[in-house]
Amino acid sequence: MFEKEFKNEIVEIRGQKVGLGESKLIKIPVDRLPTGTLIEIPVYVFNGKKAGPTVLLQGGLHGDEVNSVELVRRMLIDKSYKIERGCVIVVPLLNVFGFLSLSRDMHGKDVNRSFPGTKAGSLASRMAYYLMHEIIDNVDFGIDFHTGGAQRNNFPQIRFTQEDKQAKFLATLFNAPLMFGSKLIPKSFRNACFKKNIPIIVYEGGESLRLDEKAIQEGINGTLRILKYFKMINASVEISKGKEAIIITKRKWIRAKVAGLFNLKVKNGAKIKKGQILGFIMDTYGETKFAVKAPQDGYIISVNYFPIVNMGDPLFHFGSA
Ligand SMILES: [Zn+2]
Repeated sequence: MFEKEFKNEIVEIRGQKVGLGESKLIKIPVDRLPTGTLIEIPVYVFNGKKAGPTVLLQGGLHGDEVNSVELVRRMLIDKSYKIERGCVIVVPLLNVFGFLSLSRDMHGKDVNRSFPGTKAGSLASRMAYYLMHEIIDNVDFGIDFHTGGAQRNNFPQIRFTQEDKQAKFLATLFNAPLMFGSKLIPKSFRNACFKKNIPIIVYEGGESLRLDEKAIQEGINGTLRILKYFKMINASVEISKGKEAIIITKRKWIRAKVAGLFNLKVKNGAKIKKGQILGFIMDTYGETKFAVKAPQDGYIISVNYFPIVNMGDPLFHFGSA
């Protein structure tokens, strides 16, 4: 599927070189706090000796999406990045500011709507610029890790750009429980990379500000499957094959038709029959009980765990195969 032949070269980030068989921690300075404290983005580079792809593994583009940070971090601790071929560039936490302020954004701006960025723009725009110019120019493809926002939990899923065959191939190798093609969003990271012909797949698992062991494990397994396929890590590393991914072709949000207390009756990721009761919305005095039903056969791909809902709030992201 990847027609180009991968070479392995010296990687240069922020003027620092990482030779073949070397690994290095490079800190990219991006800003100073009003107190004068320097803010840096740590980037780990593991460069193998033999030829192979250069892969970006990125967590925390959204600062509060902690599962993405944890799974990339855990692979660092587990020494998963013993790279024999090609190179892995690891950014465990891109949005340091959002992480510190428990926010998806960076100073009120979404980095993932600030690409390709400018050198002298807002902090989010500068962050996007550095990522594109210091790192992306080195990579062949990447995995961007995310988690559900606003108290919605995403069942582990891999998303790829529909019109990008290479991305679809990578998503299939990753083999998350759910997979689907999704549209490119203007000014997003994936869109900026697509324009440079660099496939990026997006892994989503769990919810923001809450660690989710299944989401972390599925993310690690999928990443290792890709590294193993390209012979970047030792062939003896064992990775569970996982069940065959369910390919979702259509998606829609099921929203609250009334306000009230939401009682969830199905599990995230569950296979659902048309008309099945997914939950109830009740008023606080026990007078009304509104059943939320499945509009068709399908799967729960994301669920709202927040119990107080207003009319129109999203309750389920629903997918059909
Ligand atoms: Zn995100």
